[in-house]
Amino acid sequence: MQDAKLLPSDLIAHYHGWQGQDYDKKQAHYHDLIDNGQHPRGMIISCCDSRVNASALFEAEAGDFFIHRNIANFVPPYNPEGEHNGTSAALEYGVTALGVQHILVIGHSHCGGVQGCHDMCSGKNEALKAPTSFVGRWVAGISPAFDKLAGTDSADDIHALEKQAVLLSLENLKGFPFIAQAMAQGKLVLHGLWHDIRAGQLHHYNAETEAFEAL
Ligand SMILES: [Zn+2]
Repeated sequence: MQDAKLLPSDLIAHYHGWQGQDYDKKQAHYHDLIDNGQHPRGMIISCCDSRVNASALFEAEAGDFFIHRNIANFVPPYNPEGEHNGTSAALEYGVTALGVQHILVIGHSHCGGVQGCHDMCSGKNEALKAPTSFVGRWVAGISPAFDKLAGTDSADDIHALEKQAVLLSLENLKGFPFIAQAMAQGKLVLHGLWHDIRAGQLHHYNAETEAFEAL
């Protein structure tokens, strides 16, 4: 009988598979990343959602991207007084220590976090309003995006809110002094993306047309 304290056996088998295949083939690459350090060209902010596989979207290898995932791929506003700024810490390290040249905020279709924000803001989910709900307090940060769409044709379009939330994160990113400085120096570019999981498509925000366009 399998020891319940161990990882599930299929995970162990996949790990050995990875070690014997991927790691063996790319050992020199892994060693280079250790000996010469990581130099990721970009930082990705994506959702915790298991259906979003940001590395696979770009056929990325270890070392290609510095990745931060949270509920609804949300960047909260710059707040140096806050105590638990995991997202801010990741941004600071990515930009100031690693010098990433691109930050990609990747929103996605069927995002439970964005749906939660929509439901909470429209009075359809009281549980998320409870002060004990970590998810509720987190997705409340997206409410300015909900407010922006309120009263428009897109008010109940979840995909529109998913995209608007990406734009809110881009605006919040610009409020971090080290990001604003890197952008002003031409060392950093921000990108807003939205991933349609069912269609397998990636859409990029075009600031000139003010629309998300399929790549
Ligand atoms: Zn999500």
